[in-house]
Amino acid sequence: MTTLPPAAGAPDTPAVTSDGVALPLGRSAIDRDADRRREEGLIERLRADSSTAVVVVASGHVRVGDGTSLDLRAPDAVAGPGSWFYLGHDGERAYLAHAPEPAPRFERGSTTPGWASLRDVGHLLSDAEAGLATAAVALASWRRGHRHCPRCGASTVLVEAGWAARCERDGSTHYPRTDPAVIMSVRDGADRLLLARSAAWPQRRRSVLAGFVEAGEGLEQAVRREVAEEVGLAVGHVDYLGAQPWPFPGSLMVAFHGYLDGEAHPGGSAHPRPDGVEILDADFYTREALARIVGSGEVVLPSRTSIARVIIESWYGGALPG
Ligand SMILES: [Zn+2]
Repeated sequence: MTTLPPAAGAPDTPAVTSDGVALPLGRSAIDRDADRRREEGLIERLRADSSTAVVVVASGHVRVGDGTSLDLRAPDAVAGPGSWFYLGHDGERAYLAHAPEPAPRFERGSTTPGWASLRDVGHLLSDAEAGLATAAVALASWRRGHRHCPRCGASTVLVEAGWAARCERDGSTHYPRTDPAVIMSVRDGADRLLLARSAAWPQRRRSVLAGFVEAGEGLEQAVRREVAEEVGLAVGHVDYLGAQPWPFPGSLMVAFHGYLDGEAHPGGSAHPRPDGVEILDADFYTREALARIVGSGEVVLPSRTSIARVIIESWYGGALPG
């Protein structure tokens, strides 16, 4: 058995919002053990160790057992070509991720036995498994989309136990990318919540607004710009709520509560003006109205794995049905 450092090293601390709610994909319970990533032959040694557990990952999906836990495998039960990543250890065993190549394809909205989308099951997994699955999906998604050197276009190979890629021509090293995105409530003077329907969503889905941070932009600036662009409203005060990874393929969702600018909107509210491209309709809801239409099924809220759901329930003050 491979010798592991003590578990007390640096176990991840779960991420919580400023109002104390655990973020589904911000949870973890293992030591990422970054110090060992440069150890020569580490992946090979851990693959030869029968106590090692392997998370199998592909295209935002993970191998699952009963749907609420990962199907963790012994290394010799994982066959075929693919990329390997060292995720860390819990003091008893080490964890690897394996991304088969070519990756199996999954149809959106349909299910494949033995596999689940992390978007659907992230909140059902334990802290330890949520952290393992999120890191595994993030690394596999990065590797799948970044096979070539951004400097010269030559092929790259994984190094540092899967946490970096090295150019085979010029030797430059490249690390996984994370793209920040802001996601925010917009609350009016009566503390109603703005919910919108994106052009990309099913008919009954409603959620808060979100968008990528642009080059050279700060987070609060991105909040105000996105709200202005998507629904034509001016946000004044902005409060940070929390952040969680969203590795589909490589986002970090940074959540805020945003409040309508009282000077730009005298009277405390205004009619949203959806842009008609990204956002098809948008409206303000009271807590009573939202509970009623969610309860009746008229409106479907985002998955419990998403930080959008956390923002909505933070405003609401508790869990909503569905
Ligand atoms: Zn290169």
